[in-house]
Amino acid sequence: MNELLKKSATEQSKALKNKEISAVELTKAALERTKNLEEKLGAFNSLTEDIALATAKKVDEKIAKGEDLPLLAGIPLALKDNMNMKGSKTTASSKILENFVSPFNATITDKLFNNLVPIIGKANLDEFAMGSSNENSAFKKVHNPWNLNKVPGGSSGGSAAAVAACDATLALGSDTGGSIRLPASFCGIVGMKPTYGRVSRYGLIAFASSLDQIGPFARTVEDAANLLEVISGHDTKDSTSLNLPVEHFAGNLNNDIKGKKVGVIKELMTEGLSDDVAKAMEVAIESYKKAGCEVVEVSLPRIKYSIGIYYILATAECSSNLARFDGVRYGYRTMDAKNLMEMYTKTRAEGFGPEVKRRIMLGTYALSSGYYDAYYKKAQQMRALVTEDFLKVFKEVDILISPTCPNTAFDMGSKTSDPLAMYLTDIATISANLAGIPAMSVPAGFDKDGMPIGLQVLAPQLEESRLFNFAYKFEQQHDFYKQLANI
Ligand code: GLN
Repeated sequence: MNELLKKSATEQSKALKNKEISAVELTKAALERTKNLEEKLGAFNSLTEDIALATAKKVDEKIAKGEDLPLLAGIPLALKDNMNMKGSKTTASSKILENFVSPFNATITDKLFNNLVPIIGKANLDEFAMGSSNENSAFKKVHNPWNLNKVPGGSSGGSAAAVAACDATLALGSDTGGSIRLPASFCGIVGMKPTYGRVSRYGLIAFASSLDQIGPFARTVEDAANLLEVISGHDTKDSTSLNLPVEHFAGNLNNDIKGKKVGVIKELMTEGLSDDVAKAMEVAIESYKKAGCEVVEVSLPRIKYSIGIYYILATAECSSNLARFDGVRYGYRTMDAKNLMEMYTKTRAEGFGPEVKRRIMLGTYALSSGYYDAYYKKAQQMRALVTEDFLKVFKEVDILISPTCPNTAFDMGSKTSDPLAMYLTDIATISANLAGIPAMSVPAGFDKDGMPIGLQVLAPQLEESRLFNFAYKFEQQHDFYKQLANI
Protein backbone atom coordinates (compact mmCIF):
# COMPACT_ATOMS: atom_id res chain seq x y z
CA MET A 1 0.00 0.00 0.00
CA ASN A 2 1.01 3.60 -0.49
CA GLU A 3 2.58 4.64 2.84
CA LEU A 4 0.89 8.03 2.66
CA LEU A 5 -2.47 6.33 3.29
CA LYS A 6 -1.33 5.68 6.87
CA LYS A 7 -0.82 9.39 7.53
CA SER A 8 -3.29 11.83 9.01
CA ALA A 9 -5.38 14.16 6.87
CA THR A 10 -3.21 17.07 8.02
CA GLU A 11 -0.10 15.31 6.75
CA GLN A 12 -1.79 14.22 3.54
CA SER A 13 -2.91 17.81 2.90
CA LYS A 14 0.70 18.95 3.22
CA ALA A 15 1.87 16.25 0.81
CA LEU A 16 -0.74 17.40 -1.72
CA LYS A 17 0.27 21.04 -1.40
CA ASN A 18 3.97 20.14 -1.70
CA LYS A 19 3.15 18.08 -4.80
CA GLU A 20 4.61 14.91 -3.28
CA ILE A 21 1.51 13.17 -4.62
CA SER A 22 -1.46 14.31 -6.68
CA ALA A 23 -5.01 14.10 -5.35
CA VAL A 24 -5.92 11.66 -8.13
CA GLU A 25 -3.00 9.41 -7.14
CA LEU A 26 -3.98 9.55 -3.46
CA THR A 27 -7.61 8.75 -4.24
CA LYS A 28 -6.60 5.91 -6.56
CA ALA A 29 -4.34 4.50 -3.83
CA ALA A 30 -7.23 4.61 -1.34
CA LEU A 31 -9.58 2.92 -3.81
CA GLU A 32 -7.03 0.22 -4.58
CA ARG A 33 -6.45 -0.52 -0.90
CA THR A 34 -10.20 -0.59 -0.31
CA LYS A 35 -10.75 -3.07 -3.13
CA ASN A 36 -7.92 -5.30 -1.91
CA LEU A 37 -9.31 -5.45 1.62
CA GLU A 38 -13.02 -5.55 0.90
CA GLU A 39 -13.43 -9.31 0.86
CA LYS A 40 -11.82 -9.57 4.31
CA LEU A 41 -13.42 -6.47 5.86
CA GLY A 42 -16.87 -6.01 4.31
CA ALA A 43 -16.63 -2.30 5.10
CA PHE A 44 -18.32 -0.96 1.95
CA ASN A 45 -21.70 -1.49 0.35
CA SER A 46 -20.57 0.26 -2.84
CA LEU A 47 -17.63 2.23 -4.18
CA THR A 48 -18.14 5.59 -5.86
CA GLU A 49 -14.94 5.62 -7.86
CA ASP A 50 -16.03 8.00 -10.63
CA ILE A 51 -17.35 10.58 -8.19
CA ALA A 52 -14.19 10.38 -6.06
CA LEU A 53 -11.85 10.71 -9.02
CA ALA A 54 -13.80 13.61 -10.52
CA THR A 55 -13.45 15.48 -7.21
CA ALA A 56 -9.74 14.63 -6.93
CA LYS A 57 -9.19 15.94 -10.44
CA LYS A 58 -10.67 19.30 -9.43
CA VAL A 59 -8.22 19.43 -6.52
CA ASP A 60 -5.30 18.82 -8.86
CA GLU A 61 -6.51 21.55 -11.21
CA LYS A 62 -6.57 24.01 -8.34
CA ILE A 63 -3.09 22.98 -7.24
CA ALA A 64 -1.82 23.36 -10.81
CA LYS A 65 -3.23 26.90 -10.91
CA GLY A 66 -1.61 27.69 -7.57
CA GLU A 67 -4.98 28.32 -5.93
CA ASP A 68 -5.65 27.84 -2.20
CA LEU A 69 -7.34 24.59 -1.28
CA PRO A 70 -10.39 24.35 0.97
CA LEU A 71 -10.02 22.43 4.24
CA LEU A 72 -9.55 18.67 3.67
CA ALA A 73 -9.57 18.98 -0.13
CA GLY A 74 -8.34 15.76 -1.73
CA ILE A 75 -8.55 13.64 1.44
CA PRO A 76 -10.31 10.29 0.79
CA LEU A 77 -13.50 9.86 2.81
CA ALA A 78 -16.08 7.10 3.33
CA LEU A 79 -19.74 8.05 3.71
CA LYS A 80 -22.02 5.90 5.85
CA ASP A 81 -24.58 4.32 3.56
CA ASN A 82 -27.53 6.01 5.24
CA MET A 83 -26.51 9.42 3.85
CA ASN A 84 -27.72 10.49 0.44
CA MET A 85 -25.36 11.26 -2.40
CA LYS A 86 -26.97 11.99 -5.75
CA GLY A 87 -26.50 9.18 -8.26
CA SER A 88 -25.21 6.67 -5.69
CA LYS A 89 -27.09 3.84 -4.07
CA THR A 90 -28.17 4.67 -0.52
CA THR A 91 -29.30 1.40 1.03
CA ALA A 92 -29.07 1.83 4.83
CA SER A 93 -27.88 -1.81 4.54
CA SER A 94 -31.52 -2.84 4.13
CA LYS A 95 -33.11 -5.06 1.52
CA ILE A 96 -35.97 -2.56 1.37
CA LEU A 97 -33.60 0.06 -0.12
CA GLU A 98 -31.26 -2.34 -1.93
CA ASN A 99 -31.73 -0.66 -5.30
CA PHE A 100 -32.55 2.87 -4.18
CA VAL A 101 -30.49 5.50 -6.01
CA SER A 102 -30.40 8.91 -4.30
CA PRO A 103 -32.04 11.66 -6.34
CA PHE A 104 -30.44 14.36 -4.17
CA ASN A 105 -27.51 15.18 -1.91
CA ALA A 106 -27.64 15.33 1.87
CA THR A 107 -26.48 18.72 3.15
CA ILE A 108 -23.28 17.15 4.50
CA THR A 109 -22.62 15.66 1.05
CA ASP A 110 -22.97 19.09 -0.54
CA LYS A 111 -20.54 20.47 2.02
CA LEU A 112 -18.02 17.72 1.29
CA PHE A 113 -18.29 18.47 -2.43
CA ASN A 114 -17.83 22.19 -1.77
CA ASN A 115 -14.59 21.40 0.04
CA LEU A 116 -13.50 18.99 -2.70
CA VAL A 117 -13.35 15.95 -0.43
CA PRO A 118 -13.30 12.78 -2.60
CA ILE A 119 -16.01 10.36 -1.42
CA ILE A 120 -14.68 6.91 -2.22
CA GLY A 121 -17.71 4.85 -1.25
CA LYS A 122 -20.73 4.11 0.89
CA ALA A 123 -19.81 2.38 4.13
CA ASN A 124 -21.64 -0.66 5.48
CA LEU A 125 -23.75 -0.28 8.66
CA ASP A 126 -26.28 -2.13 10.78
CA GLU A 127 -29.61 -2.03 8.96
CA PHE A 128 -31.08 1.48 9.42
CA ALA A 129 -28.29 2.11 11.99
CA MET A 130 -29.89 -0.28 14.48
CA GLY A 131 -27.21 -2.31 16.19
CA SER A 132 -23.89 -2.30 18.01
CA SER A 133 -21.86 -4.84 16.07
CA ASN A 134 -22.54 -4.32 12.37
CA GLU A 135 -23.88 -7.86 12.17
CA ASN A 136 -27.36 -6.53 11.30
CA SER A 137 -26.54 -5.52 7.72
CA ALA A 138 -28.80 -7.22 5.19
CA PHE A 139 -25.83 -7.67 2.86
CA LYS A 140 -22.67 -8.65 4.74
CA LYS A 141 -21.04 -8.32 8.13
CA VAL A 142 -18.16 -5.92 8.78
CA HIS A 143 -15.01 -7.38 10.38
CA ASN A 144 -12.71 -5.61 12.83
CA PRO A 145 -9.37 -4.77 11.15
CA TRP A 146 -7.50 -5.60 14.39
CA ASN A 147 -8.90 -9.12 14.47
CA LEU A 148 -11.17 -10.33 11.72
CA ASN A 149 -13.06 -12.65 14.07
CA LYS A 150 -14.20 -9.71 16.18
CA VAL A 151 -16.96 -7.18 15.51
CA PRO A 152 -16.01 -3.61 14.58
CA GLY A 153 -18.83 -2.18 16.70
CA GLY A 154 -21.93 -0.59 15.27
CA SER A 155 -23.84 0.81 13.78
CA SER A 156 -21.22 2.79 11.79
CA GLY A 157 -18.94 -0.27 11.66
CA GLY A 158 -18.01 0.12 7.99
CA SER A 159 -16.99 3.76 8.45
CA ALA A 160 -14.81 2.90 11.46
CA ALA A 161 -13.23 -0.20 9.89
CA ALA A 162 -12.45 1.77 6.70
CA VAL A 163 -10.55 4.44 8.64
CA ALA A 164 -8.82 1.94 10.96
CA ALA A 165 -7.65 -0.09 7.96
CA CYS A 166 -6.48 3.04 6.09
CA ASP A 167 -8.94 2.48 3.23
CA ALA A 168 -10.08 6.03 3.87
CA THR A 169 -8.45 8.76 5.94
CA LEU A 170 -11.79 10.11 7.12
CA ALA A 171 -15.37 8.90 7.39
CA LEU A 172 -18.77 10.10 8.46
CA GLY A 173 -21.07 8.16 10.72
CA SER A 174 -24.36 8.80 12.46
CA ASP A 175 -24.79 8.46 16.21
CA THR A 176 -28.21 7.88 17.79
CA GLY A 177 -27.06 6.07 20.91
CA GLY A 178 -23.34 5.57 20.35
CA SER A 179 -22.99 4.46 16.74
CA ILE A 180 -19.95 6.64 16.09
CA ARG A 181 -18.22 6.35 19.46
CA LEU A 182 -18.61 2.60 19.99
CA PRO A 183 -17.09 1.52 16.63
CA ALA A 184 -14.37 4.18 17.02
CA SER A 185 -13.49 2.63 20.38
CA PHE A 186 -13.56 -0.98 19.05
CA CYS A 187 -11.44 -0.03 16.02
CA GLY A 188 -8.89 2.19 17.81
CA ILE A 189 -9.70 5.50 16.13
CA VAL A 190 -11.30 8.86 16.97
CA GLY A 191 -15.09 9.18 16.64
CA MET A 192 -17.14 12.18 17.64
CA LYS A 193 -20.84 12.97 18.13
CA PRO A 194 -21.51 16.71 17.98
CA THR A 195 -24.10 18.69 19.93
CA TYR A 196 -27.61 17.89 18.68
CA GLY A 197 -28.32 20.40 15.91
CA ARG A 198 -24.68 21.22 15.12
CA VAL A 199 -24.75 19.22 11.87
CA SER A 200 -27.68 19.16 9.46
CA ARG A 201 -29.60 15.88 9.30
CA TYR A 202 -31.13 16.73 5.93
CA GLY A 203 -30.53 13.73 3.69
CA LEU A 204 -29.64 11.36 6.53
CA ILE A 205 -32.06 8.45 6.60
CA ALA A 206 -33.81 9.02 9.91
CA PHE A 207 -33.70 6.44 12.69
CA ALA A 208 -34.73 8.43 15.80
CA SER A 209 -34.87 12.08 14.82
CA SER A 210 -34.55 13.60 18.30
CA LEU A 211 -31.30 11.68 18.89
CA ASP A 212 -29.63 11.27 15.45
CA GLN A 213 -26.53 13.32 14.78
CA ILE A 214 -23.88 13.02 12.05
CA GLY A 215 -20.24 13.18 13.09
CA PRO A 216 -16.63 12.53 12.05
CA PHE A 217 -14.28 9.54 12.21
CA ALA A 218 -10.54 10.09 11.87
CA ARG A 219 -7.27 8.72 13.18
CA THR A 220 -6.38 11.95 15.02
CA VAL A 221 -8.30 14.46 17.10
CA GLU A 222 -7.15 17.31 14.85
CA ASP A 223 -8.53 15.60 11.73
CA ALA A 224 -11.86 14.98 13.46
CA ALA A 225 -12.08 18.65 14.48
CA ASN A 226 -11.38 19.76 10.91
CA LEU A 227 -13.96 17.40 9.46
CA LEU A 228 -16.56 18.70 11.89
CA GLU A 229 -15.78 22.23 10.70
CA VAL A 230 -16.43 21.15 7.11
CA ILE A 231 -19.81 19.50 7.78
CA SER A 232 -21.35 21.72 10.47
CA GLY A 233 -23.45 24.85 10.12
CA HIS A 234 -27.01 26.09 9.94
CA ASP A 235 -29.32 24.55 7.36
CA THR A 236 -32.80 25.82 6.58
CA LYS A 237 -33.69 22.33 5.33
CA ASP A 238 -33.41 20.90 8.87
CA SER A 239 -35.61 22.65 11.42
CA THR A 240 -33.51 21.29 14.29
CA SER A 241 -30.29 22.69 12.87
CA LEU A 242 -28.83 25.40 15.10
CA ASN A 243 -28.40 28.89 13.71
CA LEU A 244 -24.84 29.44 14.88
CA PRO A 245 -21.65 30.38 13.08
CA VAL A 246 -19.26 27.57 12.11
CA GLU A 247 -16.31 27.49 14.48
CA HIS A 248 -12.70 26.60 13.79
CA PHE A 249 -12.89 23.64 16.14
CA ALA A 250 -9.19 22.79 15.85
CA GLY A 251 -8.27 26.30 16.92
CA ASN A 252 -7.98 25.53 20.63
CA LEU A 253 -6.46 22.05 20.54
CA ASN A 254 -3.35 23.00 22.41
CA ASN A 255 -4.90 25.32 25.00
CA ASP A 256 -3.49 24.78 28.46
CA ILE A 257 -5.86 22.75 30.63
CA LYS A 258 -3.91 23.26 33.83
CA GLY A 259 -6.17 23.90 36.81
CA LYS A 260 -9.27 22.56 35.01
CA LYS A 261 -11.56 20.03 36.61
CA VAL A 262 -12.11 16.60 35.07
CA GLY A 263 -15.05 14.54 36.34
CA VAL A 264 -14.94 10.74 36.20
CA ILE A 265 -18.48 9.35 35.92
CA LYS A 266 -18.81 7.06 38.92
CA GLU A 267 -21.73 5.03 37.58
CA LEU A 268 -19.73 4.03 34.48
CA MET A 269 -16.69 2.86 36.43
CA THR A 270 -18.25 -0.12 38.12
CA GLU A 271 -20.69 -2.46 36.46
CA GLY A 272 -19.23 -4.92 33.99
CA LEU A 273 -15.99 -3.01 33.51
CA SER A 274 -13.25 -5.31 32.21
CA ASP A 275 -9.87 -5.23 33.98
CA ASP A 276 -8.08 -3.92 30.92
CA VAL A 277 -10.56 -1.09 30.45
CA ALA A 278 -10.31 -0.23 34.16
CA LYS A 279 -6.50 -0.02 33.80
CA ALA A 280 -6.81 2.20 30.74
CA MET A 281 -9.06 4.50 32.77
CA GLU A 282 -6.37 4.76 35.45
CA VAL A 283 -3.89 5.78 32.75
CA ALA A 284 -6.35 8.39 31.45
CA ILE A 285 -6.87 9.81 34.94
CA GLU A 286 -3.10 9.99 35.48
CA SER A 287 -2.69 11.71 32.10
CA TYR A 288 -5.10 14.48 33.05
CA LYS A 289 -3.40 14.90 36.41
CA LYS A 290 -0.08 15.20 34.60
CA ALA A 291 -1.59 17.93 32.44
CA GLY A 292 -2.33 19.80 35.67
CA CYS A 293 -6.03 18.99 36.00
CA GLU A 294 -7.85 18.17 39.17
CA VAL A 295 -9.64 14.84 38.71
CA VAL A 296 -12.75 14.20 40.78
CA GLU A 297 -15.39 11.51 40.90
CA VAL A 298 -18.87 12.72 40.00
CA SER A 299 -22.25 11.07 40.08
CA LEU A 300 -24.97 11.12 37.42
CA PRO A 301 -27.57 9.19 39.40
CA ARG A 302 -30.09 8.82 36.59
CA ILE A 303 -27.63 7.58 33.96
CA LYS A 304 -28.51 4.00 34.92
CA TYR A 305 -31.93 4.46 33.34
CA SER A 306 -30.48 5.57 29.98
CA ILE A 307 -30.82 2.28 28.15
CA GLY A 308 -34.44 1.84 29.26
CA ILE A 309 -35.30 5.41 28.26
CA TYR A 310 -33.52 5.07 24.93
CA TYR A 311 -35.22 1.85 23.92
CA ILE A 312 -38.63 3.46 24.42
CA LEU A 313 -37.85 6.74 22.66
CA ALA A 314 -35.67 5.42 19.85
CA THR A 315 -38.08 2.63 18.99
CA ALA A 316 -41.09 4.97 19.17
CA GLU A 317 -39.43 7.40 16.78
CA CYS A 318 -38.24 4.69 14.43
CA SER A 319 -41.69 3.10 14.22
CA SER A 320 -42.91 6.43 12.90
CA ASN A 321 -39.89 7.23 10.68
CA LEU A 322 -39.90 3.83 9.02
CA ALA A 323 -43.60 3.99 8.16
CA ARG A 324 -42.61 5.64 4.88
CA PHE A 325 -41.11 2.39 3.55
CA ASP A 326 -44.35 0.96 2.24
CA GLY A 327 -43.51 -0.31 -1.24
CA VAL A 328 -45.16 2.70 -2.88
CA ARG A 329 -42.66 5.50 -2.76
CA TYR A 330 -39.27 3.94 -2.09
CA GLY A 331 -37.32 0.85 -2.92
CA TYR A 332 -38.47 -2.72 -2.62
CA ARG A 333 -42.01 -3.89 -3.38
CA THR A 334 -43.23 -7.48 -2.98
CA MET A 335 -43.91 -9.34 -6.20
CA ASP A 336 -46.69 -11.30 -4.66
CA ALA A 337 -49.72 -9.36 -3.38
CA LYS A 338 -53.42 -9.68 -4.14
CA ASN A 339 -54.46 -6.27 -2.86
CA LEU A 340 -53.06 -3.01 -1.48
CA MET A 341 -53.04 -4.03 2.18
CA GLU A 342 -51.25 -7.26 1.38
CA MET A 343 -48.75 -5.29 -0.71
CA TYR A 344 -47.91 -3.10 2.30
CA THR A 345 -47.59 -5.92 4.80
CA LYS A 346 -45.67 -8.31 2.56
CA THR A 347 -43.31 -5.58 1.36
CA ARG A 348 -42.43 -4.71 4.93
CA ALA A 349 -42.27 -8.33 6.09
CA GLU A 350 -39.91 -9.22 3.25
CA GLY A 351 -37.94 -5.99 3.16
CA PHE A 352 -37.02 -5.39 6.81
CA GLY A 353 -34.63 -7.57 8.80
CA PRO A 354 -35.40 -9.06 12.26
CA GLU A 355 -33.84 -6.29 14.41
CA VAL A 356 -35.67 -3.55 12.50
CA LYS A 357 -38.95 -5.41 12.88
CA ARG A 358 -38.33 -5.86 16.61
CA ARG A 359 -37.78 -2.11 16.98
CA ILE A 360 -40.87 -1.18 14.97
CA MET A 361 -43.00 -3.51 17.08
CA LEU A 362 -41.57 -2.22 20.37
CA GLY A 363 -42.06 1.39 19.28
CA THR A 364 -45.58 0.84 18.03
CA TYR A 365 -46.45 -0.79 21.34
CA ALA A 366 -44.93 2.07 23.38
CA LEU A 367 -46.96 4.60 21.40
CA SER A 368 -50.26 2.77 21.38
CA SER A 369 -53.17 4.33 23.20
CA GLY A 370 -53.36 3.25 26.81
CA TYR A 371 -49.61 2.63 26.96
CA TYR A 372 -48.44 6.04 25.78
CA ASP A 373 -48.52 7.62 29.25
CA ALA A 374 -46.92 4.62 30.92
CA TYR A 375 -44.02 4.31 28.50
CA TYR A 376 -43.43 7.15 26.03
CA LYS A 377 -44.40 10.01 28.33
CA LYS A 378 -42.49 8.51 31.27
CA ALA A 379 -39.40 8.06 29.10
CA GLN A 380 -39.60 11.70 27.97
CA GLN A 381 -39.81 12.82 31.59
CA MET A 382 -36.82 10.65 32.51
CA ARG A 383 -34.88 12.02 29.55
CA ALA A 384 -35.29 15.49 31.05
CA LEU A 385 -33.91 14.21 34.36
CA VAL A 386 -30.83 12.67 32.74
CA THR A 387 -30.21 16.00 31.01
CA GLU A 388 -30.59 17.74 34.36
CA ASP A 389 -27.94 15.44 35.87
CA PHE A 390 -25.47 16.60 33.22
CA LEU A 391 -26.35 20.28 33.67
CA LYS A 392 -25.75 19.95 37.40
CA VAL A 393 -22.45 18.15 37.10
CA PHE A 394 -21.12 20.57 34.48
CA LYS A 395 -21.51 23.32 37.06
CA GLU A 396 -18.77 21.55 39.04
CA VAL A 397 -16.42 20.23 36.36
CA ASP A 398 -15.18 21.38 32.94
CA ILE A 399 -15.24 18.01 31.24
CA LEU A 400 -16.36 14.44 31.92
CA ILE A 401 -14.61 11.18 31.15
CA SER A 402 -15.65 7.51 31.14
CA PRO A 403 -14.86 4.38 29.19
CA THR A 404 -16.60 4.46 25.79
CA CYS A 405 -17.61 0.86 26.45
CA PRO A 406 -17.07 -1.38 29.49
CA ASN A 407 -15.40 -3.97 27.24
CA THR A 408 -13.44 -4.23 24.00
CA ALA A 409 -14.65 -5.69 20.70
CA PHE A 410 -16.37 -9.05 21.18
CA ASP A 411 -16.36 -12.16 19.00
CA MET A 412 -18.59 -12.15 15.96
CA GLY A 413 -21.79 -14.07 16.63
CA SER A 414 -21.38 -13.99 20.41
CA LYS A 415 -24.29 -11.62 21.10
CA THR A 416 -26.51 -11.98 18.05
CA SER A 417 -29.03 -14.23 19.79
CA ASP A 418 -29.27 -12.01 22.87
CA PRO A 419 -30.63 -8.54 22.00
CA LEU A 420 -30.47 -7.36 25.61
CA ALA A 421 -26.75 -8.17 25.90
CA MET A 422 -26.21 -6.29 22.64
CA TYR A 423 -28.21 -3.28 23.90
CA LEU A 424 -26.05 -3.14 27.06
CA THR A 425 -22.88 -2.34 25.07
CA ASP A 426 -24.24 1.21 24.77
CA ILE A 427 -24.49 1.84 28.50
CA ALA A 428 -21.82 4.58 28.43
CA THR A 429 -22.74 6.31 25.19
CA ILE A 430 -26.54 6.69 25.13
CA SER A 431 -26.86 9.41 27.78
CA ALA A 432 -24.99 11.95 25.61
CA ASN A 433 -27.66 11.52 22.93
CA LEU A 434 -30.46 11.88 25.48
CA ALA A 435 -28.89 15.13 26.73
CA GLY A 436 -27.86 16.35 23.25
CA ILE A 437 -24.28 17.02 24.39
CA PRO A 438 -21.08 16.50 22.36
CA ALA A 439 -19.01 13.43 23.18
CA MET A 440 -16.18 11.53 21.58
CA SER A 441 -14.06 8.41 21.80
CA VAL A 442 -10.26 8.65 21.69
CA PRO A 443 -7.81 5.71 21.46
CA ALA A 444 -6.72 4.88 25.03
CA GLY A 445 -4.69 1.70 24.85
CA PHE A 446 -5.14 -2.01 24.18
CA ASP A 447 -6.41 -5.04 26.08
CA LYS A 448 -4.36 -8.18 26.68
CA ASP A 449 -5.37 -9.52 23.26
CA GLY A 450 -4.27 -6.35 21.51
CA MET A 451 -7.78 -5.01 20.91
CA PRO A 452 -8.22 -1.22 21.17
CA ILE A 453 -9.82 0.55 24.14
CA GLY A 454 -11.61 3.91 23.86
CA LEU A 455 -11.75 6.80 26.32
CA GLN A 456 -15.01 8.75 26.16
CA VAL A 457 -14.78 12.51 26.72
CA LEU A 458 -18.01 14.53 27.17
CA ALA A 459 -18.55 18.31 27.21
CA PRO A 460 -21.53 20.63 27.77
CA GLN A 461 -23.73 21.54 24.80
CA LEU A 462 -21.93 23.55 22.10
CA GLU A 463 -18.55 23.15 23.79
CA GLU A 464 -17.00 21.12 20.96
CA SER A 465 -13.82 23.22 21.02
CA ARG A 466 -13.34 22.40 24.68
CA LEU A 467 -14.04 18.72 23.96
CA PHE A 468 -11.39 18.57 21.21
CA ASN A 469 -8.94 20.46 23.46
CA PHE A 470 -9.23 17.90 26.28
CA ALA A 471 -9.19 14.95 23.87
CA TYR A 472 -6.06 16.31 22.18
CA LYS A 473 -4.26 16.84 25.48
CA PHE A 474 -4.80 13.17 26.27
CA GLU A 475 -4.00 11.93 22.76
CA GLN A 476 -0.67 13.76 22.60
CA GLN A 477 0.65 12.19 25.81
CA HIS A 478 0.56 8.70 24.28
CA ASP A 479 1.23 6.96 21.00
CA PHE A 480 -1.95 4.86 20.94
CA TYR A 481 -3.26 6.77 17.94
CA LYS A 482 -0.07 6.07 15.99
CA GLN A 483 -0.55 2.33 16.21
CA LEU A 484 -2.36 0.90 13.23
CA ALA A 485 -4.14 -2.38 12.66
CA ASN A 486 -1.87 -4.86 10.97
CA ILE A 487 -4.02 -5.77 8.01
N1 GLN B 1 -26.58 0.54 19.31
C1 GLN B 1 -27.65 1.48 19.43
C2 GLN B 1 -28.89 0.94 18.78
O1 GLN B 1 -28.84 -0.15 18.27
C3 GLN B 1 -27.26 2.80 18.86
C4 GLN B 1 -27.36 2.86 17.39
C5 GLN B 1 -27.01 4.21 16.83
O2 GLN B 1 -26.42 5.05 17.49
N2 GLN B 1 -27.43 4.40 15.58
O3 GLN B 1 -29.91 1.57 18.75
